[in-house]
Amino acid sequence: MSTSFQNIKGTFDILPDAYTDDGGTRVAASAEWRHVEATVRDVMRRHNFEEIRTPVLEPTELVARGVGESTDIVQKEMFAFERSDTQYVLRPEITAPVVRSFLQHHLDQRGGVQKLFYIGPCFRAEQPQKGRYRQFHQFGIEVLGADQPRADAETIAVLMAVCEALGLSDLRLRLNTLGTPERREEYVAALQDYLAPHADELSETSRRRLEQNPLRILDTKVEHEQALLRDAPTLIDFVSDESLAHYDEVKRLLGDLGVEYDEDPHLVRGLDYYTETTFELEHPGLGAQSALAGGGRYDRLAEVLGSDDPVPAVGFAAGMERLFLALDAAEADRPGADTPDVFIAALGDEAEAWCFRTAQELRAGGLHVAHDLMGRSLKAQMKEANRQNAPYAMIIGGNELEAGAATVKEMESGEQEDVPFDDLVEYLTSPAESA
Ligand code: AMP
Repeated sequence: MSTSFQNIKGTFDILPDAYTDDGGTRVAASAEWRHVEATVRDVMRRHNFEEIRTPVLEPTELVARGVGESTDIVQKEMFAFERSDTQYVLRPEITAPVVRSFLQHHLDQRGGVQKLFYIGPCFRAEQPQKGRYRQFHQFGIEVLGADQPRADAETIAVLMAVCEALGLSDLRLRLNTLGTPERREEYVAALQDYLAPHADELSETSRRRLEQNPLRILDTKVEHEQALLRDAPTLIDFVSDESLAHYDEVKRLLGDLGVEYDEDPHLVRGLDYYTETTFELEHPGLGAQSALAGGGRYDRLAEVLGSDDPVPAVGFAAGMERLFLALDAAEADRPGADTPDVFIAALGDEAEAWCFRTAQELRAGGLHVAHDLMGRSLKAQMKEANRQNAPYAMIIGGNELEAGAATVKEMESGEQEDVPFDDLVEYLTSPAESA
């Protein structure tokens, strides 16, 4: 069979079985996705986070402001379009949408701190490569309305708890403080002063950043630029005592929780609404795209989105595809495909009619029941039961109908037993006891 259509480059299908895509990357099976999503949900439940689901389509202006005009995302990577004078964008991330929703629905009026989590697809027109897609999936949290270091520490703890629940180790948490935007401005001026005499030595990208977004030069992967930066002023020397106290408390709380971290003075975010704590989680199995998740405080974002009042907030976003890469590298346990509890093989029209009715009854009793929809031979049906890894096959023909008992075959041992129709549910749910 064939089709002339292919999925869009940078997107992928999630199938019942895992497979390797054109770029040589393993795409996990849908059961693995469900397992990871269920684990995320369970960790969120235990940490008392509530789910929020926002639309995939958002106003372009929300993303332009919320993610920042100067970012690569807004300048180059948005899937944006116009329709009847309205500007739409496929969301490239979920923090700005969550804050929009929080403000629009006055979620602060529910009282207390809002602890929200999300899981869903995001879209960025990036050059696809291993761990970098055009449609990818993020899960994350936003803690809205809390300015205390406890909220920062809890945010990081939730991220680490998800990784732990999935069986990931070897993680590296990089941590820094950005202080307040006002102090950061002073630092940026000092950094520009330091770098200006060396402008000739900088790459074209860094020269551009020196004008537009100097903090991002600190991210450089160019070796001689990294060497140059070793003697550059550091942000932490510009951070206020209040911010330092906040940062110290975050570190103390993380220490209390047993969360290990590396302080990295070069870990920064370019945008003004980011404040105080910032962090990134890396896994060695990810190669070039080493970031599994990133996050931090963004106390000024709500105002950027038009709120009259500030909403202190902290959160993280993690990439599901990267998580799978890390799980593969760590060879972490994941469930295989969901298999039927029983496969019913029917011989003859009457048996098939019975099979159809009985499958419905057994399913109503909670069992996962497979059967043939094609009226094929017994041999073909048993082959199918094997392929689907059903632990039991139930064989129904004229004799069984007459006796009112099914022949139930345990596939592994090949042992067969006659089970009265009335006892089927009990037998199949607890075969050892009823045998
Ligand atoms: P960001 O919103 O850029 O901080 O991204 C948060 C996380 O989302 C990253 O750490 C990655 O794990 C993931 N991520 C971002 N962009 C992509 C992409 N194009 N493809 C796959 N994962 C991504």
